[in-house]
Amino acid sequence: MDDKDNINENDNIVDNNNNDIIKNDDDNKYEDICYMCRRPESQTGRLLKMAGSFCVCADCMQKTFNLMNAGDIPGFPIDMNPIKGNDKNSDNPGGFNPFGFNIGYIGDIPKSQRLKKKHAEASASGNPEDAAHVLDFRKLPPPHKIKESLDEYVIGQEKAKKVISVAVYNHYKRVTKDASGDIEIGKSNMLMIGPTGCGKTYLVQTLARILNVPLAITDATSLTEAGYIGDDVESVLSKLLMAADNDVERAETGIVFIDEIDKIAKKKNTTSRDVSGESVQQGLLRILEGAEVQVPVGATSKNAMVPMTTINTRNILFICGGAFPELEKIIKKRLLTGSGIGFNSILSDKYDEEDVLSHVNNEDLREFGMIPEFIGRLPVVYTLSGLDKSMLVKIMSEPKNAILKQYQKLLALDDVELMFDDDALEAIADKALEKETGARGLRSIIEEFMLDIMYEIPKDRSIGRVTITRDYIESKGGPRIELHGAVAPMIPPVSEGGSL
Ligand code: ADP
Repeated sequence: MDDKDNINENDNIVDNNNNDIIKNDDDNKYEDICYMCRRPESQTGRLLKMAGSFCVCADCMQKTFNLMNAGDIPGFPIDMNPIKGNDKNSDNPGGFNPFGFNIGYIGDIPKSQRLKKKHAEASASGNPEDAAHVLDFRKLPPPHKIKESLDEYVIGQEKAKKVISVAVYNHYKRVTKDASGDIEIGKSNMLMIGPTGCGKTYLVQTLARILNVPLAITDATSLTEAGYIGDDVESVLSKLLMAADNDVERAETGIVFIDEIDKIAKKKNTTSRDVSGESVQQGLLRILEGAEVQVPVGATSKNAMVPMTTINTRNILFICGGAFPELEKIIKKRLLTGSGIGFNSILSDKYDEEDVLSHVNNEDLREFGMIPEFIGRLPVVYTLSGLDKSMLVKIMSEPKNAILKQYQKLLALDDVELMFDDDALEAIADKALEKETGARGLRSIIEEFMLDIMYEIPKDRSIGRVTITRDYIESKGGPRIELHGAVAPMIPPVSEGGSL
């Protein structure tokens, strides 16, 4: 069970607004926060702790006393004003509250806005669970083991799996203390190029799960230059911090996947300010390289009531992905220029058949609209190929958690065996290819025809086996049904949208 589950289980106190609040045991794991400036104790220095878990930092305390020394504080309710409140002639008994507001009105700070304590501190406090969260990179599997684990889930894309395994291994080696010395190992941020639905996101998700590191997935299209509507680039780090359960140290060794990176290419022929294209690339430069970035905790945008923390991005692995439509044309054009007259048509045919994307270089990406500084910070560039029919068939049936295996397991619980004819699988793959959304289309196609099966089969306990046929997928017939011990005749064809 992971740390998050533990926290939820132990949370026995929930406030009236349904905000889960940190109480009692959990308090030990999180940093205290100044109730006035919302900075955590690691930034403010020792906090003054008062009754009711109210904390205030020395700076805020000093500012408040300065205000009071300046005399009557305009705009303060009379019962909160220390000077008027102490006036014996006043009806209001007052009371000394130097903070100028009613402490009772302040709610507890929600868990999502509180930071985990540093591991060294937590381990010193004797919590073995926290000590276990300190990552030991010497236990990191070598590249061939990482690839073997990826093979269990991701079909094909051999080159991409190999490149990512080596790059990730090198990245985390660089993070270990042993690697610090005179020779600094460069960062291995990556750029993945491949058509939609070919497994870019899935590859990164699987990788993060194998390595047990936090992962934030974000869409480059939602990012804009600071100050414009949309998320600032720092929001990607806020998401990572959330994925790391507000543990800054874990977040600092996590993975950020920025999808649809091709959508922030420099806009061509535009005279207006490119706030969601080139400016976002510029904004990302600093965090890709490695910098101390101020990040809101528990929110993706900065505002006065959200605590901030500093995240160092030096050891965060950034992986960018995109389909880069039209990039093929640019590559082809480059490959063809310079070749002798007469050879062009031969070469053109050759490149039509070949995987042109794999010839990509920085020059092509620059022409596409990525700025050189941005490309320079993504030294590992590789491509994923589009999925063909045989790969789609494998994706349905071979991975550890393949969708067909999931349905087989569900029906097995009803004591029914689910089988698929080979040509039925091909028919599904054909339908998915027509949709042109890669493997993403498979699930919706399978769910559509499995709905009737999942609805009808549990009605009849005598059914022992169901075989999905090509005719059933193409709505020309029904599945083959066999009873426990005997083979049943073919059931009548289904009409469009009909039942079994
Ligand atoms: P994209 O390349 O657009 O990021 P995704 O990674 O989101 O595509 O793929 C969508 C889904 O298709 C995944 O959740 C996964 O189930 C399946 N999928 C895609 N490619 C593969 C693959 N090579 N091996 C196994 N499953 C895949």
